[in-house]
Amino acid sequence: MDCLFCKIVQGTIPSRKVYEDDLVVAFHDIQPQAPVHLLVIPKKHIATMNDCEENDSALLGHILMKAQEIAREAGLADNGYRLVNNCGRDAGQIVYHIHWHILGGEKLAPLNPKPQADCE
Ligand code: AMP
Ligand code: ZN
Repeated sequence: MDCLFCKIVQGTIPSRKVYEDDLVVAFHDIQPQAPVHLLVIPKKHIATMNDCEENDSALLGHILMKAQEIAREAGLADNGYRLVNNCGRDAGQIVYHIHWHILGGEKLAPLNPKPQADCE
């Protein structure tokens, strides 16, 4: 299969890995958007969040728990971090092998920058 992240899993494309087990790999994003920018991916090829099935539930849980561990190892636990999955065109997904971005190491731009005028 012609998939960039499958090739990273197989080792035919190099990556700066920070974690690997039977189910997942985590590595540095090649174009970091924050001082710490890691990607966590399953070894299994799943194109998008839309393609996850009920029997992927344990794998998805494993990915999130490993993301927590990897973020802690990267020193992000105390100040916090953002965990992002882009699904499809409108979200700007570029690589169609499901992945979670771990972003941190600085105060990140808020997702809701507009002040809420009518919040009372
Ligand atoms: P997304 O927009 O969620 O699909 O994000 C894909 C991410 O993969 C981007 O942040 C890219 O910088 C990153 N990326 C693309 N190619 C590589 C690579 N060879 N090694 C590491 N990260 C990559
Ligand atoms: Zn793949």
